Amino acid sequence: MHCTASWFNKQVLEWYDQYGRKNLPWQQGKTAYRVWVSEIMLQQTQVATVIPYFERFMSSFPTVESLASADQDDVLHLWTGLGYYARARNLHKAAKQVVEQFNGQFPEQVEQLEALPGIGRSTAGAIASSVFNQPAAILDGNVKRVLARFFALAEWPGTTASQKQLWQYSEALTPNKRTADYNQVMMDLGALVCTRTKPKCDSCPLAKKCLAYERDQTHCLPVPKPKKEKPTKTTHMLILQLPDGRVKLVQRPPTGIWGGLFSFPEFETFEDVECYLLSIEAQAPLKWKNFKHTFSHYHLDIWPIQVKLNQPPNNVNDEKAIWFQPSLPNEEQAIGMPAPAVTLLKKIAQSM
Ligand code: SF4
Repeated sequence: MHCTASWFNKQVLEWYDQYGRKNLPWQQGKTAYRVWVSEIMLQQTQVATVIPYFERFMSSFPTVESLASADQDDVLHLWTGLGYYARARNLHKAAKQVVEQFNGQFPEQVEQLEALPGIGRSTAGAIASSVFNQPAAILDGNVKRVLARFFALAEWPGTTASQKQLWQYSEALTPNKRTADYNQVMMDLGALVCTRTKPKCDSCPLAKKCLAYERDQTHCLPVPKPKKEKPTKTTHMLILQLPDGRVKLVQRPPTGIWGGLFSFPEFETFEDVECYLLSIEAQAPLKWKNFKHTFSHYHLDIWPIQVKLNQPPNNVNDEKAIWFQPSLPNEEQAIGMPAPAVTLLKKIAQSM
């Protein structure tokens, strides 16, 4: 390393004392449960987006026991809009484990925390250091960016070799004292100073020894992920609508994309939709304009097809289906839904 851990710690902890974030909702009345929920929400999501979700979640499920005994639909409902729904399903599963196996008390060791569903090494480190004062290192997206720039990491941070290297840096730099403040400031620096674009190096406490800054490489570090064209898949979402405006939603299988969420019935091709419509008494289908939803691995080209019905089809027995009123706010019909279903429901409500 081109600097000592004590120099690094001094720089960032002094900055923390002056500018670090100390008033985030999960930093108040700190408990393992609150920190854990915030950490899971913060994976892939920014603080400003997370705050209202966190507040709503805490009012509905103030304790790990209340989350463990909740209905999965209610948990997914509170997650609607945050995306990456496996996080919510794992959160629910982990809450049950904490209650059943640990009597409602979160384990304090990183290894035990890591064994819970949805908790990776960095999240376990964040909980252990923040709540239990363990000297555990973290490596979330913000910390990775700061370290990749500070050490001018030559490879994309997502490779196994880079991950290993970054964990080594993080562990070597993480102090035994004030670990919680240190981990918080590393996240703060990534979020507020060493930002993805246009990092504010002039106000960064690490600028003096930052290799990316010294080499004028802040714009090209971290090395971006090698580009791979994302494939596009197509789906047809069928909007079956009753005369009172209600539309049919079906619950998706518990695992996989949008697992456990309610969405419109899907068909691969328009011909499949037509075949299905032959089996029920339906008016002529109306094709809506298609739109795109992007996942991390592919684009989904969505073709909505609206079909008006005189009454619910009686030859179809879907246990997992509901008739949803788009003109009522979602709060009154507490279910989890993926973003494209929410978009379509808004459009339907506007057209009613
Ligand atoms: S000097 Fe600039 S690039 Fe280096 S860590 Fe600070 S903000 Fe990031």
